[in-house]
Amino acid sequence: MTDAPRPAVFLDRDGTINVERDYLSDPDQLELIPGAAEAIAACNAAGLPVIVVTNQSGIARGMFDEERFHEITARLGELLAERGARVDATYYCPHHPEHGGARYARACECRKPQPGMLVRAAREHGLGTTRSWIVGDSLRDLEAGAAVGARGILVATGKGAVQYASALERGAPPEHHVADLGAAVRLVLAGS
Ligand SMILES: [Mg+2]
Ligand SMILES: [Zn+2]
Repeated sequence: MTDAPRPAVFLDRDGTINVERDYLSDPDQLELIPGAAEAIAACNAAGLPVIVVTNQSGIARGMFDEERFHEITARLGELLAERGARVDATYYCPHHPEHGGARYARACECRKPQPGMLVRAAREHGLGTTRSWIVGDSLRDLEAGAAVGARGILVATGKGAVQYASALERGAPPEHHVADLGAAVRLVLAGS
């Protein structure tokens, strides 16, 4: 299909919206990063679709199941709604290349840095990825965006500071790196 013109902001979840907990597996572990809900609300107000794209290999690893993932998604939605914010859609990859047996072990196209979740979201929501942004705390997030022409912003929350340091060491720092999702959304809204 052709690239529809409507841009979106794709957001990683763990370490970007909510505090990173290694393989978050319980709704009670959810804690919003300060300013994250307000940033998402600002996207909502600007009419910019907010699409969460999250690797959840904890499912393939047997740490929690898809039903639990959906409970976490619902709880995150409640926490955001309390602050007037809304995610328009959530896409997740339950796979892992080596773990998960017949159901989940595969070299899929959705696990970031592969762009499959963004491709599917674009198709299902009529989004133009080349005018879109992706915000995440991992270089994998930015690579997934770059694969479909989206601009990337690395946040320093979650694993972001360590990720930035390693990118710098390799002489390939991301073009955009900011403190947190609030700062990222200010950049997005200034540039859209
Ligand atoms: Mg993350
Ligand atoms: Zn996958």
